[in-house]
Amino acid sequence: MSVLTCKLISSRCHNDETIWLELKKLGRTNVEVPVLGLGTWGIGGLSNSRRGGEEEDASALRLGLELGMRFIDTAEMYGHGHSEDVVAMAVGEERESVFIATKVSAENLAYEHVLRSCEASLKRLKTNYIDLYQVHWPNTRIPIRETMKAMEKLVEEGKIREIGVSNFSVKQTREAQEALSRKTVVSNQVEYSLVERSIEGDLLPYCEKERVTIIAYSPIARGHLAGGGRDDPWRTLDTVAQRYGRTRTQVALNWLICKENVVAIPKASNPQHVRENAGAAGWRLKPEDQEALSKAFS
Ligand code: NAP
Repeated sequence: MSVLTCKLISSRCHNDETIWLELKKLGRTNVEVPVLGLGTWGIGGLSNSRRGGEEEDASALRLGLELGMRFIDTAEMYGHGHSEDVVAMAVGEERESVFIATKVSAENLAYEHVLRSCEASLKRLKTNYIDLYQVHWPNTRIPIRETMKAMEKLVEEGKIREIGVSNFSVKQTREAQEALSRKTVVSNQVEYSLVERSIEGDLLPYCEKERVTIIAYSPIARGHLAGGGRDDPWRTLDTVAQRYGRTRTQVALNWLICKENVVAIPKASNPQHVRENAGAAGWRLKPEDQEALSKAFS
């Protein structure tokens, strides 16, 4: 396996507690992101009518930031935008040292709608720039050229820094890349975990070759990888976990971030989960253990 384009640094941020996790280059850029970010699906409620728990959620995000996961992924559709409000609460005055990724929804991909969605996200996030703006899902009714034109306009205006996609196939990723004239598609956010391996067929090799970072969502299979069963392949997971003195979740996340161009964004509202997930970085599964896990769950 090739060496990761990441480095381990221990520079401090605002206080002595804050450490950075390993970093990886984002796409073809020199921008570096922590190998583990913080997912926010369900944070801030699933809809306007079911809000609550914002302070707890923001404090879980703040803990994740303190533990070095200084990369938050959100979307305009999460909690109908309220997730972005909670991200702003969590980030507070630390904006400059947090990498914020958000997404424009599939129904908002027409030129003017992208611009409008971005303005609304900036307002909710209480910031004047978004580090990574992603197209949440493809929409075949709107030409990708139109969407990408709006994305490049936002870059020109300094409102977004990098452009990404999500849930795009190889063909759609290529079309998105071709639609850009001055920027590149730096990332594709897709479902990827030990138990969901569809991207290994063509998307993962394509993105490795094209240097498009894979941002793995549902990396612990929505909690399933922490529970699971007792038979094979779970026995293999437990054996590996015991060997490293780690938990199932930590091994499952480490297996992902051992891959050259993959970073992962587990979501956790429970502070214990946040700490456990942060402990999934800073060490490395041996290649033979990565292989054993790949086979066991194939
Ligand atoms: P996930 O991160 O695989 O799993 C989240 C669930 O696992 C939560 O119920 C969480 O519980 C639990 N959990 C977290 N850490 C744990 C641990 N150490 N031990 C046991 N349970 C643990 O799933 P996800 O939320 O679907 O995916 C992560 C993020 O990816 C999302 O939040 C979102 O930002 C993004 N996403 C993007 C798309 C897309 O279309 N682009 C789709 C889905 C998700 P607690 O919250 O109670 O701690």
